[in-house]
Amino acid sequence: MEHEAIGENRTRPTLTLLLTARRCPVECVFCDLWKHNHPGATPVGSIPHQIRGATASLTSPVGTWAIKLYNGGNFTDPLSIPPADWPEIAELCKPFERVIVENHATMCGERLLRFRDLLSPQLEVAVGLETSNPDVLARQQKQMTLDDFAGAAEFLQRNEIALRCFVMLQLPHANPKKCVDDAVQAVIHAAQAGAQFVAIIPTRSDTPAMQKLIATGEFVSPTLMQLETALHDSLSQIRTDDSGCVVTADTWDIEMVRHCPTCQDARIKNIQAMNSRQQSLPVSRCDRCGS
Ligand SMILES: [Zn+2]
Repeated sequence: MEHEAIGENRTRPTLTLLLTARRCPVECVFCDLWKHNHPGATPVGSIPHQIRGATASLTSPVGTWAIKLYNGGNFTDPLSIPPADWPEIAELCKPFERVIVENHATMCGERLLRFRDLLSPQLEVAVGLETSNPDVLARQQKQMTLDDFAGAAEFLQRNEIALRCFVMLQLPHANPKKCVDDAVQAVIHAAQAGAQFVAIIPTRSDTPAMQKLIATGEFVSPTLMQLETALHDSLSQIRTDDSGCVVTADTWDIEMVRHCPTCQDARIKNIQAMNSRQQSLPVSRCDRCGS
């Protein structure tokens, strides 16, 4: 369980479930989530079983909590989350205030409404925007355009489903010197499309495909300082535009992000503070790395 920001100095208890399901059929260049999943269709009953296992031991009331059902793919992909399981999933999520699922922009359509109609809690859908640069986006094998994203955002808003977005800090085939500005632009793009929450994710490179791109110079891993700066700059812009959008830097495996050993701790602490307070705090200074 984590306390996730929902506004300035306001958080919500959130239970994140990383469900084992069928591997995502969209094979984005930068993605490594498939490593945790399997190629075959998810058996009926498996997802409710996993949710029950994770929620059975909860002792405190969860009426103000969110539950994230992350399947490393798309919720409305019937081979990943069998629709036959939807009613049971909805029943298991009933005690929560909010249910957050992941979905590809091109899959945010009528099928999603059928799941929403089964739910008592508010539905929120997390969509990977990744970048607002159309040329870079086109080179990620994501099978999504900015128009697809705009269509999904509009559909969700019209149907009172909350939108959360993922933005990547540094993608393959993008200019590494511009990665901070690119991420901030993507955050603003997401907020303007109606996202209530945007997470900036430093692109990982633990797959053979990404290692190959590093070797050829087509990908340069982002640094912790760039992540801190991207969060700082995004919050500075977002807090003045009145959208109320929450912006965080993803801290999963943050120790693995490229860093200078002298300032690593200070930067991680500052990122965590900005995440929870939703205020832009000064970027850490360091004599060793000269920033
Ligand atoms: Zn340093």
